[in-house]
Amino acid sequence: MPAFTIDQSVCTFCAGCSSVCPRQAVMIRDDCAEITDACTGCGHCFQFCPVSAVTRVEGDAP
Ligand code: SF4
Ligand code: SF4
Repeated sequence: MPAFTIDQSVCTFCAGCSSVCPRQAVMIRDDCAEITDACTGCGHCFQFCPVSAVTRVEGDAP
Protein backbone atom coordinates (compact mmCIF):
# COMPACT_ATOMS: atom_id res chain seq x y z
CA MET A 1 0.00 0.00 0.00
CA PRO A 2 1.36 3.44 -0.91
CA ALA A 3 2.48 5.62 1.99
CA PHE A 4 0.97 8.70 0.37
CA THR A 5 -2.32 9.55 -1.29
CA ILE A 6 -3.56 12.50 -3.34
CA ASP A 7 -6.57 14.56 -2.27
CA GLN A 8 -8.59 14.91 -5.46
CA SER A 9 -10.46 17.93 -4.11
CA VAL A 10 -7.22 19.89 -3.65
CA CYS A 11 -5.08 18.64 -6.55
CA THR A 12 -4.79 20.92 -9.59
CA PHE A 13 -3.44 18.05 -11.76
CA CYS A 14 -0.30 20.03 -12.58
CA ALA A 15 1.62 16.71 -12.90
CA GLY A 16 4.61 18.12 -11.04
CA CYS A 17 4.59 15.27 -8.53
CA SER A 18 4.66 12.80 -11.40
CA SER A 19 7.74 14.49 -12.86
CA VAL A 20 9.67 14.32 -9.57
CA CYS A 21 8.67 10.73 -8.77
CA PRO A 22 11.64 8.38 -9.29
CA ARG A 23 9.30 5.39 -9.71
CA GLN A 24 6.70 6.78 -12.10
CA ALA A 25 4.23 5.87 -9.38
CA VAL A 26 1.88 8.82 -9.92
CA MET A 27 -0.78 8.30 -12.57
CA ILE A 28 -2.49 11.44 -13.80
CA ARG A 29 -5.44 11.41 -16.19
CA ASP A 30 -7.61 14.45 -16.90
CA ASP A 31 -9.19 15.03 -13.50
CA CYS A 32 -7.77 12.10 -11.55
CA ALA A 33 -4.37 11.74 -9.85
CA GLU A 34 -3.47 8.51 -8.14
CA ILE A 35 -0.44 7.00 -6.42
CA THR A 36 0.02 3.38 -7.41
CA ASP A 37 1.59 0.39 -5.66
CA ALA A 38 4.90 1.25 -7.37
CA CYS A 39 5.32 3.94 -4.71
CA THR A 40 8.21 3.39 -2.29
CA GLY A 41 7.19 6.18 0.07
CA CYS A 42 10.22 8.39 -0.63
CA GLY A 43 8.15 11.53 -0.10
CA HIS A 44 9.41 13.55 -3.08
CA CYS A 45 5.85 14.19 -4.30
CA PHE A 46 4.80 15.18 -0.78
CA GLN A 47 7.60 17.74 -0.58
CA PHE A 48 7.03 19.04 -4.09
CA CYS A 49 3.26 19.56 -4.26
CA PRO A 50 2.58 23.34 -4.33
CA VAL A 51 -0.95 22.96 -2.97
CA SER A 52 -0.30 20.24 -0.36
CA ALA A 53 -2.61 17.78 -2.08
CA VAL A 54 -0.32 14.84 -1.26
CA THR A 55 -1.08 13.49 2.20
CA ARG A 56 0.54 10.80 4.25
CA VAL A 57 -1.47 7.61 4.73
CA GLU A 58 -1.85 6.65 8.37
CA GLY A 59 -2.44 3.22 9.80
CA ASP A 60 0.60 1.15 8.80
CA ALA A 61 2.52 1.78 12.01
CA PRO A 62 4.05 -1.36 13.53
S1 SF4 B 1 1.97 18.16 -7.53
FE1 SF4 B 1 0.13 18.30 -6.24
S2 SF4 B 1 -1.33 19.52 -7.45
FE2 SF4 B 1 0.26 18.79 -8.85
S3 SF4 B 1 -0.61 16.87 -9.73
FE3 SF4 B 1 0.67 16.35 -7.94
S4 SF4 B 1 -0.76 16.23 -6.21
FE4 SF4 B 1 -1.77 17.37 -7.85
S1 SF4 C 1 6.32 8.94 -2.32
FE1 SF4 C 1 8.04 8.84 -3.84
S2 SF4 C 1 7.69 6.92 -4.95
FE2 SF4 C 1 5.78 7.42 -3.92
S3 SF4 C 1 4.58 8.53 -5.46
FE3 SF4 C 1 5.68 10.05 -4.19
S4 SF4 C 1 7.59 10.50 -5.29
FE4 SF4 C 1 6.72 8.57 -6.12
